[in-house]
Amino acid sequence: MEACLTVKGPDGQLVPGYGWVFPAGNGIVNVGVGALSTMRNFSQLNLNTMLDSYMAQVGPAWGLGTFVDRPKAWRLPMHVECRSGPGWVAVGDAAGLVNPFNGEGIDYALESGRHVAELFVAGPGTVHAAYDALVRREYDPFFATARRFAWVIGRPRLLRFLLGIALSTGFTMELVLDIMANLIDTERRTLAGTLLDIGGRALSPLDPILMRTQESAPSELRARIDASR
Ligand SMILES: Cc1cc2nc3c(=O)[nH]c(=O)nc-3n(C[C@H](O)[C@H](O)[C@H](O)COP(=O)(O)OP(=O)(O)OC[C@H]3O[C@@H](n4cnc5c(N)ncnc54)[C@H](O)[C@@H]3O)c2cc1C
Repeated sequence: MEACLTVKGPDGQLVPGYGWVFPAGNGIVNVGVGALSTMRNFSQLNLNTMLDSYMAQVGPAWGLGTFVDRPKAWRLPMHVECRSGPGWVAVGDAAGLVNPFNGEGIDYALESGRHVAELFVAGPGTVHAAYDALVRREYDPFFATARRFAWVIGRPRLLRFLLGIALSTGFTMELVLDIMANLIDTERRTLAGTLLDIGGRALSPLDPILMRTQESAPSELRARIDASR
């Protein structure tokens, strides 16, 4: 699999997001791009053009041919306020459990489903309150920090600056990967965990701006995704 953090838009500017290519069997590959809707000028970004630009970048190395299917676009839910109530709980994407650093949601979907099953076995009558407490404790702090960071890298200059640091050495690349993929050992004090804590606290004043961005984004985004299908 190849993942690229330096995907450029048609204007040659870095886009906060990433591109991927992986083999899907029978000589077919899955190729795609993702971008953060919190980036500056997101309304002017055309995902089809961004995909073309990424395919031009990786096409020769992968020997890419023509599309076997029409490209499709989808929105990843990265924040959901109401995740459970009496008689119901939401897991995975329905609960907004998608890592804003990298768009990963498969492991969170499986984990949250397992938590609900275990809580149900332990006490069917208290699942919703127990699950709500567990998500707030185990997931919300990391996701909140990641959303703040996603807003920051939506500014092109900051993105260039931070990418310059992140990709400068093997050590920083591994550190950034640990933070982005939430591979942080919570049992002991690590550099990745400390940086995440400090970053989260330093960026917390951004929360009111983030709330406004989230309130205005969904309808605009849905219209843009429908238009690109
Ligand atoms: C392009 C793309 C690339 C991604 N890449 C990665 C990646 O590399 N790594 C990663 O970890 N995550 C990735 N994700 C995110 C990941 O796919 C999701 O976070 C994950 O699949 C969420 O699992 P889920 O079970 O919550 O939801 P889903 O996988 O969406 O499952 C929900 C299911 O419910 C079904 N459904 C919906 N409505 C109804 C209904 N009314 N009745 C019955 N069934 C219904 C749907 O058809 C679907 O099968 C990617 C997402 C996208 C869009």
